[in-house]
Amino acid sequence: DHVMRLVGAAGSFDIQLPDAYFGQVVTRFPPEPSGYLHIGHAKALLLNDYFARVHGGQLILRFDDTNPSKEKTEYEESILADCSALGVKPDRIEWTSDYFDVLLEWCEKFIRDGNAYVDRTPLEQMREQRLHCVDSAYRSQSVEENLRLWTAMKQGLPEAHGCCVRAKIDMQSKNAALRDPVIYRLGGMSGDADHGGTQIAHHRTGTKYQVYPSYDFACPIVDSLEGVTHALRTSEYQDREAQYIWMCRTAGLRCPHIWTYSRLSFVYTVLSKRKLTWLVEHGYVDGWDDPRMPTVRGILRRGMQVDALRAFILSQGPSRNITFQQWDKIWTTNKRLIDPVAPRHTAIARHEHWTAELAGLEALPEWQQRTDAEPVLRSVPRHKKNPTLGNKALVLGSQILIESDDASTLAGGEIVTLMDLGNARVEYMDAAERKLGLRFLPDDKDFKKTKKLTWLTNGPELVIAELIQYGYVLSKEKLEEGDDFAAWAVENDASKRIVSVWADMNTRLLSVGSFIQFERRGYYRCDQMWLRDGDVIRFIEIPDGRIE
Ligand code: ATP
Ligand code: MG
Ligand code: MG
Repeated sequence: DHVMRLVGAAGSFDIQLPDAYFGQVVTRFPPEPSGYLHIGHAKALLLNDYFARVHGGQLILRFDDTNPSKEKTEYEESILADCSALGVKPDRIEWTSDYFDVLLEWCEKFIRDGNAYVDRTPLEQMREQRLHCVDSAYRSQSVEENLRLWTAMKQGLPEAHGCCVRAKIDMQSKNAALRDPVIYRLGGMSGDADHGGTQIAHHRTGTKYQVYPSYDFACPIVDSLEGVTHALRTSEYQDREAQYIWMCRTAGLRCPHIWTYSRLSFVYTVLSKRKLTWLVEHGYVDGWDDPRMPTVRGILRRGMQVDALRAFILSQGPSRNITFQQWDKIWTTNKRLIDPVAPRHTAIARHEHWTAELAGLEALPEWQQRTDAEPVLRSVPRHKKNPTLGNKALVLGSQILIESDDASTLAGGEIVTLMDLGNARVEYMDAAERKLGLRFLPDDKDFKKTKKLTWLTNGPELVIAELIQYGYVLSKEKLEEGDDFAAWAVENDASKRIVSVWADMNTRLLSVGSFIQFERRGYYRCDQMWLRDGDVIRFIEIPDGRIE
C-alpha cells in the first residue's frame, strides 16, 4: 500500500527486474563505512529497497569494509541511522569482513587452480602494462611459488612487501576490466612500512588479517554466498560486468543478475566522500548535516520529505543516462507534498517593519470581552484549505507591525486586507517615521482588488525567529574533467543568508522537524525550537523549486 502510494507520487515509470519471482528477490545495498551517506547512496538504497519490497523479497545492508584505513564504526552507526531516517529497514545486516576467512580460501583456490597469481610489479608499471595489454613478468610464475608468496603475504612477512594477487583473466581483452584485476592486497601501514611501521587496524577484525580482498573480488563472491538474486550497479561499472561474472563462474558459484542504473549527480554539487570531507574540514559548511550538504542528513535537515526523494528516484527509473539533475525538480516534488499539510504562520522582518495604529477593533466580539490581563485572541484556521490541521491563535491589538516592502507601497485612503482579520482603510502615512494609521472596516468584505498584508500585533506575544536561506556550495553548475572543485567552492557566509523576524506566538509550539509556511515568504523547517522566554526559534528555508 505504501509502495503503491509512492509509485503514484512518482508518476509514470517503468522499472522491472528480469527473472524476479515473488518472494524470491534478494537485493543488497553495500556502502563502505567510510563516510556519511549522500543522495547518490540514497538512490542506491531506495532502489534496492523498492525492488525488495515490490517483489516481497529481502534487502541486505552490507557494510563493505575491506579498506581499514578509511573505515570506522562511527560511520556504520551513521549509515544505520540514515537508513532508518529514509524509512528503510534492511532485513539483514552483513559485513564483508565476516567473510574474510572464506575469501582467503577462495583466493587460495584461485591460485591453486592457476586462476590467480602473486604479482610484485610496482604499481605504476602495472598500470602501464594494463593500459598496453602487456603481461606481467610474474604472470607465468609457478603455482608453488605463488602459494609460497601468498603464505608470506598472509603472514605479513617482509618478503611479501609490494605483492598483490591478481586474477588471471585476459591481458589482451578489449575490456580493460578483464586485464588481470587485483583480487587481494596487503593492508595499509601507518608510518614507514620498510622500517617497522605499524599495521593499520581494521575496525572489526583488528590486526588479525594482513591481507584484504578487493571490491572486484569480494563483491561477486559475497553477493553469491548471501543469496543475492539481483545486484544493482551503477553504469560506470558496466565494463566490469564481465569481470563480475568471471569471478562467480571461476569460484563455481551462482551468478546474480546484474541490473544497471545511472549514477546520480546534481548541478552545483559534489557527491564524493573525499570532496564532501574537504568542504567540512575547510569550514565551507558547518558540518556533515549542514543543509547545503547533499548528505542524507543535510537534505533532510533542509526539509526534504522522504516520499519526495523516493518519488524522484523511482521516477528516474531505469534511465542509464548520466546527466546532471536540477535541484528544482526534486524540490518541486517536495513542495507538492508539503504544501497541503504545512500550517501557515506569519513572520515580519524585524529591522524593516512599519508600525500601524489600528482603530476600530471595538466592532469585534473578542475585543469587547477583553480584559487587561490577557491578550485578545481570535481563533483562525492553520491552513485555509486543510481544516484537519485545526486552528491557531491570532493576537489582536491596536498596534500592529507590517512589512516595510508592503507598507511603503500604500497610499492614504487605500483599502487593504489584513490577513485573517479583514479590510482596513489607510488613514495616514508617515514614511519618515515608518508609521501609518489604519481603520478596520468590519463590513467591507470585498477582497478582490485589495493588497493582502501579513501583519502581527506588537506585544509580548511576539517571538523572535531566525530564517536561514542557503545557496549552493559550488559556484559552477557542472564541474568538468580536470576542474579543481576547491576553486569553485563558495565561502561559508556567502552561501547563507540569515534574516531576523518577528513570528506569531503559535510558532512556540513547533518542534524540531516541523515544517510550516510563513505566508508570502515560503516553506520552512524548524531547526531549533522554542523552550523558554528569550529563545530564538531557528527555521531553515525549504527550497520550493522556483528558480531564483
Ligand atoms: P563515494 O565516491 O561518494 O565515496 P562510493 O561509490 O565509493 O561513493 P560506496 O559506499 O561504495 O560509495 O557506495 C555504496 C553504494 O552506493 C554503491 O552501490 C554505489 O554504487 C552507490 N552509489 C554511490 N554513489 C552513487 C551515486 N552518485 N549515484 C548512485 N549510486 C551511488
Ligand atoms: Mg566504494
Ligand atoms: Mg566513489
